[in-house]
Amino acid sequence: TPGVVDSGNASSQQLLLDELFAPGHDKGSCLSRYEAILYRKPSSHKPSPYLLSKLRNYESLHNLCGPYTEAYNKTLEQLKYGRKVSTTDCNYVVYTPLSGLGNRMLTIASAFLYALLTNRVLLVEFGSEIAGLFCEPFQQTTWLLPRDFPLRNQFDNFSQEYPHTYGNMLKSRVINTAVKSPPPPPFLYIYLAYNIDRYDGLFYCDQNQDQLGKVPWLVIKSNQYFVPSLFLVPSFKQELSKLFPDEETVFHHLGRYLFQPSNEAWGLITRFYRAYLSKADETIGIQVRVFDPKATPFQTVMHQILSCTLKEKLLPEVLDVKNSAASSSNNQSMKAVLVTSLYSEYYEHLKGMYWTKPTVSGEVIGVYQPSHEEHEIYGNNMHSMKAWTEIYLLSMSNVLITSSWSTFGYVAQSLGGLKPWMLYRPFNGTTPDPPCVQAMSMEPCFHFPPSYGCKADVYIGPGAIVPHVKHCEDVEWGLKLV
Ligand code: GDP
Repeated sequence: TPGVVDSGNASSQQLLLDELFAPGHDKGSCLSRYEAILYRKPSSHKPSPYLLSKLRNYESLHNLCGPYTEAYNKTLEQLKYGRKVSTTDCNYVVYTPLSGLGNRMLTIASAFLYALLTNRVLLVEFGSEIAGLFCEPFQQTTWLLPRDFPLRNQFDNFSQEYPHTYGNMLKSRVINTAVKSPPPPPFLYIYLAYNIDRYDGLFYCDQNQDQLGKVPWLVIKSNQYFVPSLFLVPSFKQELSKLFPDEETVFHHLGRYLFQPSNEAWGLITRFYRAYLSKADETIGIQVRVFDPKATPFQTVMHQILSCTLKEKLLPEVLDVKNSAASSSNNQSMKAVLVTSLYSEYYEHLKGMYWTKPTVSGEVIGVYQPSHEEHEIYGNNMHSMKAWTEIYLLSMSNVLITSSWSTFGYVAQSLGGLKPWMLYRPFNGTTPDPPCVQAMSMEPCFHFPPSYGCKADVYIGPGAIVPHVKHCEDVEWGLKLV
């Protein structure tokens, strides 16, 4: 129960800290880091000792190279003069924002893993909409890209067509990976979003990684969870298997490490949880993401949800009698259903159903939905705050049902360490049969992996399948770790 553990003194505070975190964090500035354990049981997936030591080393590097350190200031000079003027041990990867919150979190975690693999420091540009959602993950420094970062005014031009992307520079032969080629510039733009072409995709090749290793600043634009393709880069393989002996825990660990709810978000999460969910014996999260409301009408999706919950026995059936004596049931158990959606109709229907009719099992079902925003909104901080709250609440469920294709759902499942039941995407108004499938692993899906080989000339299709990288349940050409 929340508040039972005395989190007051230093040693009991230490007990509350997930082993992923270094000791010594200031509790007041990030309550969730210490209080999460009061709300959900510790993860059953242990991080490898090697991952923990890698994180501690990363933290030291971030301290050495973080914004406004001597080393940071020195590497900035290289940007000013356009060439290497001094050597430091500091190299960077800069994340720039694209798409909704789920996409952003998946890409930031991917960029962080890339930083771990290549000894770079990750700096993030959030944009106003996701400012203030998360705690600062690193002590005595920051992962936020400084406002006066010199390349910032070019970010708006950074699209796939931008001539200075790595892909375009390779294509136009401004740079190449030949041994005798001139040294690469001090910064490069790496475009890795959903529509990468054969040249952008060369990023995932060893030869190109050798070249990129000489570039102090890499600025990434992506909305993808590109981790599975890092597992297919030969030179990263060994390190990755040491870091993640259990391949399906990559986002589970890195996500929990990087994304702690800020105090404001934690207030929203814990108030909702305590008011509606904490008393239930079990919580079932249902995430309803409707990408095309016209092609997938309410009745179809609602029918699909109910087919899934009944077929897989996730929720009880209701009796078709209104006046059966509820008091005769001695089943005292209570289930809570947490619905998240941009719309309220799924929640209304479920709530009405379990209110007006008794369940076969006699258990009672409470149905709750924190918000219904109606539309995706960009640039609105409170909109993103609600989205983050709902992702986190979903991750606290015991059982999870998610919508295909949604990164919002992926983040929830991975943070929660859950293999969700995924609702197949309905086609032209009919409920798919079967309506849902349980995911092979809790990992997110990489929707658009590179489809050309390392010479950019051979189309290889959706990519090589190796024992721990498979096609996704919901996106046939996508890749996921299992
Ligand atoms: P995806 O588009 O489903 O992959 O997920 P994203 O999180 O990347 O983008 C969808 C955005 O729409 C979210 O970031 C939210 O802003 C909004 N959104 C979608 N579904 C929900 C929901 O269930 N609750 C809330 N509060 N917002 C949602």
